[in-house]
Amino acid sequence: MSEIHGNPRPAVPSGVIERLKAAVGPGGYLDKPEDILPYCRSWRGNWQGESPLFLRPATTAEMAAVVSICAETGTSIVPQGGNTGLTYGSQPGRGMNEVIVSTARMKAVRDVDLDNDTITVEAGVVLQEIQRKAAELNRFFPLSLGAEGTCQIGGNISTNAGGIQVLRYGNTRNLVLGLEVVLPDGRVWNGLRSLRKDNTGYDLKQLFIGGEGTLGIITAAVLKLFPRPTEQQSAWIGLETPDAAVALLGLMRERLGEAVSSFELISRPTVDLLLAGVPGSTDPLAAEHPWYVLTEVSGQGAPGSLAEAVAHVLEIAVEKELVQDAVLASSGEQARRLWKMREDLPFGVQAAGGAIPHDVSVPLSRITEFIRRADEAMQRAYPTARFCCFGHVGDGNLHYNPVRPADWTYEQFAAEREAVNKIVHDIVVDLGGSISAEHGIGIVRLDENLRYKSPVEIDLMNRIKLALDPANIMNPGKLVRI
Ligand SMILES: Cc1cc2nc3c(=O)[nH]c(=O)nc-3n(C[C@H](O)[C@H](O)[C@H](O)COP(=O)(O)OP(=O)(O)OC[C@H]3O[C@@H](n4cnc5c(N)ncnc54)[C@H](O)[C@@H]3O)c2cc1C
Repeated sequence: MSEIHGNPRPAVPSGVIERLKAAVGPGGYLDKPEDILPYCRSWRGNWQGESPLFLRPATTAEMAAVVSICAETGTSIVPQGGNTGLTYGSQPGRGMNEVIVSTARMKAVRDVDLDNDTITVEAGVVLQEIQRKAAELNRFFPLSLGAEGTCQIGGNISTNAGGIQVLRYGNTRNLVLGLEVVLPDGRVWNGLRSLRKDNTGYDLKQLFIGGEGTLGIITAAVLKLFPRPTEQQSAWIGLETPDAAVALLGLMRERLGEAVSSFELISRPTVDLLLAGVPGSTDPLAAEHPWYVLTEVSGQGAPGSLAEAVAHVLEIAVEKELVQDAVLASSGEQARRLWKMREDLPFGVQAAGGAIPHDVSVPLSRITEFIRRADEAMQRAYPTARFCCFGHVGDGNLHYNPVRPADWTYEQFAAEREAVNKIVHDIVVDLGGSISAEHGIGIVRLDENLRYKSPVEIDLMNRIKLALDPANIMNPGKLVRI
């Protein structure tokens, strides 16, 4: 597996390790194997790498010193934030030839500019802390995802994370105005601009956003803040088909405009796995429906105004036979419970014995066709597999996860991974979609990305990598293969 990480370098020499420790001082590193081990393990626990050293510089200057030593000695670096990524991008291989460089101690809020609606934070600030800080300032930072209590903003930026508010506010890319980055040669690029307009050449920050730590280590960022919504209304809605969900989204946007901030689609089998596998889960509606939408509408209206507006749109949707049944959250607590169900869906799938996950996107107009074609093709190939499908459908993003057939072992099903991926991703690509909507490429999707992207695109990506990191020390073997 070490060669899958694409790093043939020898183990890091002890002399280099001592120099790196000295650069960060006591408290800035872990060097005992048992202390390092958790940082080498993937979130789902299905990959365990190894590394001789875990570094956590406290400042940009320390980070630059670490990277300079690595550049001089040809030592490979795995940048790491909260280690919640789902593509093995933040763990080392098994050659003891990569040091992990974490932003965990870079937690300062460097600046707040309320007139400009911006906050400047260091890369190690946990996402939930930024949301909290924004609320304290009577502002809103919209990035929101299941791992928000652990993931760090540097990791969110490096994966261009999506989550549940993309429909209204865009991906992480849309939330970043400026970056500070330690480059692979140890120089610091200070691009911490807080401008919404700046046409002075190539927009360099975009290379690092979604760059998965292959071009440099992000140490700080200027983020956009938004007006804090005063009113929020969530609804759990039962429907017959994904087509009805797409039509409902169109209707809601026509009537409520930008106020529609989240729109999630969930299949009934996914809800069944949740109810069976996650204690305390309950079905929000009395009768079962083939599909569900969980939506949030938010804005600055008077208290109660959104509930009325959403109820009115749902009445129209019932008349048009788009919606079978719905429940509006009557309190903040009920809304939190509905969104907790959404967050818990992956745990229901896990409890069912594991799935082969896909994080795909297609144009919204092709969602129904994708689900139909993927279900039919999978059914033909694996008649006893169970289909679990949910996702941020407002963004055309679905997590399409065939679940292990009850009569198969996990190993039997896992052996089919490549074949299953090909079935699902061939359909996605045929519909003009993406094989990784929000989780990134890392190692998991590297081969497939090389297969599906055009040679011109791959060549450009390789050239950018080599221009910034000619020695290939920054997260080698992830995202690009050179
Ligand atoms: C329960 C759960 C739910 C999730 N839901 C979503 C979701 O809805 N949407 C979504 O998009 N993702 C989701 N994810 C995936 C994951 O949380 C995100 O990718 C997150 O943005 C990763 O942040 P992190 O700090 O954990 O980064 P890590 O996992 O530590 O790193 C991810 C990648 O970024 C690189 N990196 C980390 N920090 C830096 C830095 N400072 N500079 C340069 N490179 C860096 C790493 O090398 C690695 O390649 C979910 C994960 C879990 C476990």
